[in-house]
Amino acid sequence: MGNCWLCPGLQSRRQFYPSTTKVGRGWLSLLNSQFQDEGCPLEERRRMKVKLKKVYYCDFCGKRSLKSLAKHERYCTGNPNRECRLCGRKNLIPLIEKYRGTYEIVQKTLKGWTGPTDFVEWKGVKVTIEDIEADVDGCPNCTLAILRCAFEIPARYEFNYDYKEALKEWWEKEKEGL
Ligand SMILES: [Zn+2]
Ligand SMILES: [Zn+2]
Repeated sequence: MGNCWLCPGLQSRRQFYPSTTKVGRGWLSLLNSQFQDEGCPLEERRRMKVKLKKVYYCDFCGKRSLKSLAKHERYCTGNPNRECRLCGRKNLIPLIEKYRGTYEIVQKTLKGWTGPTDFVEWKGVKVTIEDIEADVDGCPNCTLAILRCAFEIPARYEFNYDYKEALKEWWEKEKEGL
């Protein structure tokens, strides 16, 4: 306790504040009731050791880590200029730009709805997941990267892409040496 100016108890607090009128009687009684309920608030604060840690964020997907994410960022499926760890493809930017041009997000207020909602309007024939997979030779990580980088949320959801399943199939094919 030592130098805690609150802890020595009511007696010494009176020594610290001989004139309670100066501090205010209300304040002192509030302090006393708090002591009875919770103990010394200052001691409590001292007991809680606060540890500060540096947290890293991925610039592309927002992933957090206590370790540097430089390696993750290089392969992150949110990074248009990524390298693929599965198929080795580099630079998806031309494909991302191609797919960005295939749709528009428009706001519509439907009858009976309270506000406008985002809808997808395809400029030509609706893009399918097979189109994207064909462009990246079936690589699930590159497919996911195109979905994340080229398609805004309402458009991305139209594909209903099952990444886990696609990855499983990819590894099965790899095992069979196809
Ligand atoms: Zn990331
Ligand atoms: Zn790939």
